[in-house]
Amino acid sequence: MKILVLNVGSSSLKFQLVDTDQTAIDANSDRRLASGQIERIGGEAILTLGVGSAPPSHTTAQIRNHAEAVERVIAWMAGADSGVDIAAPSDIEAVGHRVVHGGEQFTRSTLVTATVRSDLERLIDLAPLHNPHNLLGIAAAREVLGENVPQVAVFDTAFHQTIPETAHLYAIPYQLYRRYRVRRYGFHGTSHRYIAYRYRQLTGKTREQTRIITLHLGNGASACAIVDGHSVDTSMGFTPLEGLVMGTRSGDIDPAIIDYVGAKEGLSSREMDMMLNKQSGLLGLSGLTADMRELLAEADENGDRRARLAIDIFCYRVRKYLGAYLAAMNGADAIVFAGGIGENSPAVRERICEGMDWLGIQIDAGRNIGLTGGAEGRFDRDGGRVELWTIPTDEELLIARDTWRIVSGNAPPP
Ligand code: ADP
Repeated sequence: MKILVLNVGSSSLKFQLVDTDQTAIDANSDRRLASGQIERIGGEAILTLGVGSAPPSHTTAQIRNHAEAVERVIAWMAGADSGVDIAAPSDIEAVGHRVVHGGEQFTRSTLVTATVRSDLERLIDLAPLHNPHNLLGIAAAREVLGENVPQVAVFDTAFHQTIPETAHLYAIPYQLYRRYRVRRYGFHGTSHRYIAYRYRQLTGKTREQTRIITLHLGNGASACAIVDGHSVDTSMGFTPLEGLVMGTRSGDIDPAIIDYVGAKEGLSSREMDMMLNKQSGLLGLSGLTADMRELLAEADENGDRRARLAIDIFCYRVRKYLGAYLAAMNGADAIVFAGGIGENSPAVRERICEGMDWLGIQIDAGRNIGLTGGAEGRFDRDGGRVELWTIPTDEELLIARDTWRIVSGNAPPP
């Protein structure tokens, strides 16, 4: 089944066309027919379009809105000279959407019906920065492909709906949860779920045999404690702001800072929110960049003190969460690294694992160095108690799989 996977943001659209129809996830047996993105929708947009695994082409074009962007992608794929293995838009049999917030209602991926669409409208209140764009993507795909092509919503929050009350409630007046559903939702759920599934597949273990910590370390970053295949805690909270240090997000801070700094700097709560989301994290600490690769180069080549500090604080925060989850889960069988940083930076992985020998976390430097550029593998020392893995995440594949399962009436997603 040829499935279009869409991840729609405020001014961008990422897409993949995946041919999939198997029960087990196997990254090697699915065919990725096309992938790419359109950035700066609403003006002179940048189009990155790739066929199969060939290097993508870059062009620019006026693209006014999301519907036009979806139309453009589909017209390109179905065009005679694109080289993509579809002859007409009608060859696209289903669409899978990344939807950021599913609230408490959506605990698994769901076929988009009129009722689901209005439920998603209601959830905009919880995710005003993300869900409206996801809904635009759904409307655009419907407009271009017609009402009969099924669409499936795959939620970032759904995987974390198994987190128990003790870990998902904040210690604020309980009526705020009752009235407004203020609680930990967690995000990156599709990524953590994929990593956990792939770990079980690579090790031949069942759900019940696994107690693992997954670390998605990219521009956004989060940790997840997974027992028996279910999320039992995660570092992102009511919004993606909580938890680890990220590219531009602060992660955990004392909430009293917001009022204090707001008053001193004359910033509104909205401006403070922007500062914590867009100007903090690695960028705020270093004063240079949100990009970990650049920070590592700056620290190594020029000995920049604040670049080093930003990296140290990033790694320290991850270590604190590892310690917390090891305590919460009574130990772990494995720690799995993913995301742009987790998959590509042996230096950061080494720094995170430093000084945790007493917990049975022992890195094999040689194995660690060898794991970059999308490689899957294990890098703990022989005899260590906790397995260390790098498993590149693949949210699009899981979205395609869920879409296929739901549309073809196969078993519910794992
Ligand atoms: P997103 O969350 O936007 O999907 P990614 O998962 O692509 O982001 O991660 C982006 C981050 O990964 C950036 O900070 C980038 O510098 C970092 N990264 C990519 N390659 C490397 C590398 N070789 N070494 C260190 N960091 C890297």
